[in-house]
Amino acid sequence: MSGHDHESRIKELLGRMTIDEKLGQLQQLAWAWDTGPGGADTEAAEAAARKGLLGSVLNVVGAEAGNALQRIAVEESRLGIPLVFGLDVIHGYHTTFPIPLAQAAAFDPAVTETDGEVSAREARSNGIHWTFSPMMDVTHEPRWGRIAESIGEDPYLTTCYAVAKVRGYQGADLTAPDRIAACAKHFVAYGGAEGGRDYNTVDVSEQRLRNLYLPPFRAAVDAGAATVMAAFNTINGVPAHANPHTLTGILKEAWGFDGVVVSDWTGVQELIAHGNAAGEAEAARRALTAGVDMEMVSTTFVDHGRALLASEALSAERLDDAVARVLRLKLRLGLFERPYVEESAALTVPTAEARAAAREVAGRCMVLLKNDDGVLPLDAPTLRSLAVVGPFADSGDLLGTWALPGACEAVPVLRSLREALPDTDITHALGVSPEVSGAFGVPEAVAAAEAADAVVVVVGEPPAISGEAAVRSELGLPGAQEQLIGAVAATGKPCVVVLVGGRPLTIGGWANQVSAILMAWHPGIEAGPAIADVLTGAVVPGGKLPVTFPRAVGQVPLYYNHERTGRPYNPATPDVKYVSKYLDLDHGPEFAFGHGLSYTTFTLGDPLLSRERIGARELRAGATVEVTVLVRNTGDREGDEVVQLYIQDPAASITQPVRRLRGFRRIRLAAEEEREVRFTLGADDIGYWTNDPAGVFTVEPGEIHVHTGNSSQTQARRTLLIT
Ligand code: BGC
Repeated sequence: MSGHDHESRIKELLGRMTIDEKLGQLQQLAWAWDTGPGGADTEAAEAAARKGLLGSVLNVVGAEAGNALQRIAVEESRLGIPLVFGLDVIHGYHTTFPIPLAQAAAFDPAVTETDGEVSAREARSNGIHWTFSPMMDVTHEPRWGRIAESIGEDPYLTTCYAVAKVRGYQGADLTAPDRIAACAKHFVAYGGAEGGRDYNTVDVSEQRLRNLYLPPFRAAVDAGAATVMAAFNTINGVPAHANPHTLTGILKEAWGFDGVVVSDWTGVQELIAHGNAAGEAEAARRALTAGVDMEMVSTTFVDHGRALLASEALSAERLDDAVARVLRLKLRLGLFERPYVEESAALTVPTAEARAAAREVAGRCMVLLKNDDGVLPLDAPTLRSLAVVGPFADSGDLLGTWALPGACEAVPVLRSLREALPDTDITHALGVSPEVSGAFGVPEAVAAAEAADAVVVVVGEPPAISGEAAVRSELGLPGAQEQLIGAVAATGKPCVVVLVGGRPLTIGGWANQVSAILMAWHPGIEAGPAIADVLTGAVVPGGKLPVTFPRAVGQVPLYYNHERTGRPYNPATPDVKYVSKYLDLDHGPEFAFGHGLSYTTFTLGDPLLSRERIGARELRAGATVEVTVLVRNTGDREGDEVVQLYIQDPAASITQPVRRLRGFRRIRLAAEEEREVRFTLGADDIGYWTNDPAGVFTVEPGEIHVHTGNSSQTQARRTLLIT
């Protein structure tokens, strides 16, 4: 069916629907396994579906359950409009991939496209049509638990990943039996929550909104994302669920988005708690008129929509527009033609192929933070014995936030290392627990380390303390894990720390005591094999940090793309007093955005520009400048390097960040191989959004510094003159 056919079908249906049936399409209820506060149970969903008063259900699990509920809507309701089933398929359905923040560290959007494709195949075969993903909230807050679900602190990297994930889920045809609708969330600026406290206030200038938070959403919409979810935060005093400027002015009008805006869980009702509505009727009016189309879990639209229409607080046109968007989604998904899934074809376990994909992706996500004296990779032929200690060494709890109920546990690191190193005598001790402060098992771990040639300590954050509402005021290792590292490192044995977690962690207290640190994040179902691959050198690490690792939590927010100050810190004169720095801490991050080592080494040449000056008008008309950089693998083994391109505008009408990522390319080079990497800079890369609420993008004359390198701290630069 073409888009034109969809529109005539929508018109025809709208002509036959009662007001209650229309309002019903705007309601999404939660199904039994996770009803939560304010939710409805299965029976309520069935009863509403039977009367044609329900548009969507979230958290239905299993093909059989979905088909049974769908049959009620399609065969028993007056108009037979199918339901659309949504679920948070965030980084896998049966096959759990690494968390999104880990995927960001691959600096390779193809990994997230793979996750999207595998997830879509598994989910759709089980009757799920719609995922509430990808999350594209840029954030500067490691304390915020949802940083684990994000792509980190950079809007350009996030944009590339957002587009790839939408493509992975949706493909070219949403009616296909292995595709699902994506949801760009959370619109918008949710990552700016003050203090990192979830759901908290966001007060953001127009220019920051447009330069930092909006670009991934714009790109996702242009890539065809079928739906968008409103955010829990306020934006300059107006909750995102009741914000006509962002939902209607920007998203629907300026960008032409014709899909569904869904509320977040009870987000409409929460306008009351926000202090923005006196009661449910007002909450419904504010959200509907601002541009929310479907209400998740709370029921203010169906409860008050009729009265709002009668009092003309809500127009019939706006109601029809919201309903049309929901029907359009269902038509795009082909649900009118194929409302059911074939139960016998439902994928019920991760296939070997999906597991292999998850393992490869997890390997690409790992970031080697430190590797003194080349202690990694472990040298299998000479390693007679190895102690593998720490609370996550023999743990299956490495899936990360949003692992779906019933998802298989992760393969533990200990098991995989034993398989990978059959001739090495591997001993194990738990050491400590991340949940309890108390060094109950440290002596056993120390004894194991003393008796071995080397020690691998697997420590970090349990998944339960990252993700939604999992906000931390400290960023160190929880429990007595730092004590464990100290005690084991004191044995003098080569000590490798594998860090797991969902956010940047402060590691300054112990980083110098150990030989190597590998950031493995929450790697998903194939955690053990992927970590073993990297530790043994079967896979050469090539990931880079998509977030700054601070030295101390007191520096937060600390991010590479910060604005310039009038009194910047200068490393050449560290004792100057009146500059922007802390008195009691070395300046700068522990590890910068874009940092990551390899088992081989690379040199990068200076950037070369295809031209050194270009007119702003020419740029706006589509002209571009090519930047090339020569990369050479100077080591003796194959490996990946991520070549990064940053720009800086040193004199702009609005102070620009000290660096802005505008390109990156992960390439694999054989030993001594050399390759030229090419980037293109156009108006979109060079210009920026001003503070004009009407949305003004400007390309100003003046110098642009073009930097290339293998981290955000690159110094190599050329100057491009914009005339
Ligand atoms: C989260 C959303 C999620 C929704 C449905 C909310 O609490 O903020 O990201 O999609 O729940 O589970």
